Amino acid sequence: MKQQQPPPLPQTQPPSLSLSQPAAGAGGAAAAEGSAVAHAISSLNGSNNNNNNNNAETARCRPPLYPKPKTPSFDKDRDYIGFATLPEQVHRKSVKRGFEFTLMVVGESGLGKSTLINSLFLGDLYKNRQMPNVEDRIEKTTRVEKKTMDIEERGVRLRLTVVDTPGFGDAINCEDSWRVCTQYIDEQFRQYFTDESGLNRRNIQDNRVHCCLYFVPPWGHSLRQMDLDLIRRLHRKVNIVLVIGKADCLNKTEVRKLKERILQDLEDNHIQLYQFPECDSDEDDDFKQQDRELKASIPFAVVGSNTILEVAGKKVRGRQYPWGVVNVEDAEHSDFIKLRTFLISTHMQDLKDTTQDVHYENFRAQCISQISQHALRERGKLKRDSISSTNGFDAAISETDRLLLQKDEEIRRMQDMLTQMQEKLKQTHLMEMKKNDSVIDV
Ligand code: GDP
Repeated sequence: MKQQQPPPLPQTQPPSLSLSQPAAGAGGAAAAEGSAVAHAISSLNGSNNNNNNNNAETARCRPPLYPKPKTPSFDKDRDYIGFATLPEQVHRKSVKRGFEFTLMVVGESGLGKSTLINSLFLGDLYKNRQMPNVEDRIEKTTRVEKKTMDIEERGVRLRLTVVDTPGFGDAINCEDSWRVCTQYIDEQFRQYFTDESGLNRRNIQDNRVHCCLYFVPPWGHSLRQMDLDLIRRLHRKVNIVLVIGKADCLNKTEVRKLKERILQDLEDNHIQLYQFPECDSDEDDDFKQQDRELKASIPFAVVGSNTILEVAGKKVRGRQYPWGVVNVEDAEHSDFIKLRTFLISTHMQDLKDTTQDVHYENFRAQCISQISQHALRERGKLKRDSISSTNGFDAAISETDRLLLQKDEEIRRMQDMLTQMQEKLKQTHLMEMKKNDSVIDV
């Protein structure tokens, strides 16, 4: 029997922090998932990766290429079992199914959130956006707006959902702002929990929030009280990634100082944002270096722009100012490329895994403990009810018994009377007989 060759795999480019090349674009997201799969798969194969080592340069690239499975030839190769194609099977299945990712953006209006999202995913998610006027903003409460975009890159489909929170922080009292965010996250968990406990678990749509980009303004000296309040309420529910918006307002020293103070504030308040996983020791040096750079950049200081400008004959995404151009993809100007690399190319799958394994697991454990506590309470109530009804039954029984005993007593008394009457009758009869006998004798 002829075994089918797996389809050719997409040649994903290694995510690179090099700024000479513009980023891959919308499809980068999909590539990320693909590369995450590829990465996981490559670790599955471990040292077996000797088919691709002809070219040392290629071997050092990220993500590692799949080891080419040996062509199954049962006649020639008696050692071949066939499970080397497992990675391709997983890959094909995942690509067929497509990927889902939900990103929540939180921060007050005007911080450049929509511009950044459009720049990250090269789309226009906010085409029909209407800016609220002043009166609206006074009244305004925080809302949740969900926008979905289907993107495809090299045959890999990604359904990206961006959850925006317009009105966040506009009101004087910010209680409402954090409540809306936490409620939304919990609702998605609850929905997933209900779907997962239902009968049709095959087609569950995952709307859980996988990452929350929290925008901090570039003005001010550190996190504000409202930022701390919200982050404290969210950090155990969702992967929070801090972003300093409109970072072109700050020079390099100011960015560094602001980052340091933010990190200090988080530490002082025992807040734990998304934790980057440790880099495996067997990863190649480029990947380790990239990982170090990403970790060192947190919180990402970003600049967004939807304008393509021409600078020295090259097209760049940037912001034109009288004194020059801010190239958002230049690492000297902003952490935009690092954020995109992290969010799309290297850590998208880990964000999803952490959501599933940590945040959703916490929610699920709470739900299950609440359900079992409720069941225990219900059982206790039932027990109490049954005990009290048994007591009532006893009372009813004793009342009946008492009546029966009474009746028994009456019957016994009547029987006694009857016996006495019969006895009397018998004696009278005997006396009558004797009398008659004596009369005859005479
Ligand atoms: P949102 O309300 O948070 O979604 O903010 P917008 O994305 O609508 O941006 C508000 C204004 O800030 C617009 O005029 C943008 O052009 C501008 N803007 C967006 N990103 C940046 C940035 O990185 N730097 C600067 N200086 N302005 C920005």
